[in-house]
Amino acid sequence: MLLSKRRPYLLLFIAFLFGASALAQDWANRPSTEARIEKLLKQMTLDEKIGQLNQYSAGSPTGPGTGRKNYAEMIAKGEVGSLFNVTGAQVNVLQKLAVEKSRLRIPLIFGLDVIHGYRTTFPTPLAMSATWQPELVEKAARVAAVEASHDGIRWTFSPMVDVSRDARWGRIVEGAGEDPYLGAAMSRAYVRGYQGASLSTADSIAACAKHYVGYGAAEAGRDYNTTEISERTLRQTYLPPFQAARDAGAATFMSAFSALGGVPSSANPFTLDTILRKEWKFRGFVVSDWNSIGELIPQGIANTPAVAARKALTAGVDMDMEANFYHSTLAGQVKNGQVPLSVIDEAVRRILRVKIELGLFEHPYSEISQDAMLTPQSRELARTVAEKSFVLLKNQNVLPLKSGAKVALIGPVADSAIDMIGAWAGKGDPKDVVTLRAALERKLGPSMTYAQGTEILTASTSGFAEAVNAAKASDVAVVALGENAVEMTGEAASRSDLNLPGNQEQLLKEIVATGKPVVVLVFSGRPLILNWEAQNVQGILEAWHPGVEAGNALVRTLYGENNPGGRLTTSFPRAVGQEPIYYNHFNTGRPLKDIDDSRPPKNHSEKFRSRYIDQQNSPLFPFGFGLSYTTFTYSPVKVSNTSLAAADINRGASKILVSADVKNTGSVAGDEVIQLYVSQTGTSVVRPVRELKGFQRVSLAPGASKHIEFTLGRAELAFWNIDMKDVVEPGTLSVWISPSSADGEPKTIELK
Ligand code: BGC
Repeated sequence: MLLSKRRPYLLLFIAFLFGASALAQDWANRPSTEARIEKLLKQMTLDEKIGQLNQYSAGSPTGPGTGRKNYAEMIAKGEVGSLFNVTGAQVNVLQKLAVEKSRLRIPLIFGLDVIHGYRTTFPTPLAMSATWQPELVEKAARVAAVEASHDGIRWTFSPMVDVSRDARWGRIVEGAGEDPYLGAAMSRAYVRGYQGASLSTADSIAACAKHYVGYGAAEAGRDYNTTEISERTLRQTYLPPFQAARDAGAATFMSAFSALGGVPSSANPFTLDTILRKEWKFRGFVVSDWNSIGELIPQGIANTPAVAARKALTAGVDMDMEANFYHSTLAGQVKNGQVPLSVIDEAVRRILRVKIELGLFEHPYSEISQDAMLTPQSRELARTVAEKSFVLLKNQNVLPLKSGAKVALIGPVADSAIDMIGAWAGKGDPKDVVTLRAALERKLGPSMTYAQGTEILTASTSGFAEAVNAAKASDVAVVALGENAVEMTGEAASRSDLNLPGNQEQLLKEIVATGKPVVVLVFSGRPLILNWEAQNVQGILEAWHPGVEAGNALVRTLYGENNPGGRLTTSFPRAVGQEPIYYNHFNTGRPLKDIDDSRPPKNHSEKFRSRYIDQQNSPLFPFGFGLSYTTFTYSPVKVSNTSLAAADINRGASKILVSADVKNTGSVAGDEVIQLYVSQTGTSVVRPVRELKGFQRVSLAPGASKHIEFTLGRAELAFWNIDMKDVVEPGTLSVWISPSSADGEPKTIELK
């Protein structure tokens, strides 16, 4: 009903003509919208203006942290701009108060953390990044938007686009890993998926790029910890996924909890104003993180709520999530001259702009409908995304499993529905999950025996004997191990130990001791240390927390109906002491690569290197790595020019074409993720040893080959030089087309 009247066919048609991206920022500068904003602003009292800047959590289990919960009264008085954590029919009840009882009838915007699906739970964002298929992520985000919008939600606090180089940080699971280029591609995909062709469509939800900015660089991987990031690294590593979100038209940003070089990100004029507003011309609004304005007090840059509110607002945080400081202090500060009215007006403009463009004034109510939820097509997509996200880390002739083999399914995660739905599953319900045990039982019937063996976190070995017996009685053991999704991954779940938790590895050792072939399925929200596994089991598949269709996707993969082609987007360390570990690090004056790295070092020249005396520098599994049930070969890289002028690239007048032929040399079809890396020397500042600048996931039939081409231009080759200018500099460029960040032979190009 509501929906059918509101389809903006014209917009869709324009989107079709010009490509959806042309529409991305259209919402931000529409004269008719601007005129409406100004007209409304003139009618608003100071209190009504400040009312728009307040957001409260109105649902269980997290609200109301502020103690304010008389919503009917607050809304009628115009004291609320947004509510979150409330869904379903209740949304329309509360909205009715805003549009019928408040003086100016300004609708509320209802938000929620829709992170990896709403009712249909997709794999976690880290897992989805391992698909290297932004187009799939966009589809998943679209499903999430359709479902959420049919439950009253028009704004998600997603995507989380924090680059993270540290597996200790629990929130690494919420992002796209350690690379800014891949992170930017995923960022655009989420925004496009959530916001659809037009913000004003009833099933579009506003995106929120978070946590702006640098939150993923929390020192020592400890959540909420401070960060120290140089401006160059900020611009080259941490900002690109945010800029991509802005360019894709993200309507909102969320300011982070963390401090950046001593300035809390929720009160940082440099990032919020200079970069976001002035350089990037972002015209949506910024919401604080949960009470991050309140946290300015313990962080130490405000001794009172008034100072905290003033610093946050004047830096550029438009909406106060849950601190209630804007409500409690801003009116007084405007009256006594400490906060200029113009700053309040500007924040109100930004919030009204998004509300108008979402169509909330015309259509404040949501069509609440269960029909949109968990449809067969959405489940199918969830299965596909899961299958594409699995990363095969080791395979010694054990996978795919042979049909007819007797399988022992062992491990605490094999039948755990809650762990399949992952860190932040929205309205995902464990009851809908197909576990690995359920799916395998369906396939194998009596040819499968199941033994849990142990819990994820326990010292008890009482289940070991049953598991060992099951392994002995079978032809192959499939062992499902990993992290507890809700407690051990996500927010406030940093770990100082990256091994499999509890006694899972001890159980595994007993299974391996039976002499049966063993496949380990790793269910984790972060890279884990898998040294022993890599040495001692025949197969390892990183399965992440794969969502509602986990079991079906896994069984299809175990039996070769799906050939795993996911690739790591984070480095898997050998030891926690290597963290933060990431492939795109700078070179040092004492690189290790050309010398023997025997441990302990044998002599002076081996020792006085940038290295550990007791561990290799390299990760166990590098960024970009993943195996397949087939094999691929790469031809040598070809480049269109071996010498050209940096200045020409800089002004967009020339580009370099880089190509290679990739062939499936095995006997089954498979996916390969072909990766383009560059590195440059002779530059004014140190450049990373490699940087991803292109990728393509291709499916190849056995024997088939494909010519793969990439283009390198200004966008790929410019960097922040010694003068903090974003330019292409002369120097020697190395270019790789390779199956991972640790492979391939470079070709060099002179940039003059
Ligand atoms: C998290 C955000 C989230 C917010 C609202 C905070 O604790 O850091 O990512 O969007 O809560 O739930």
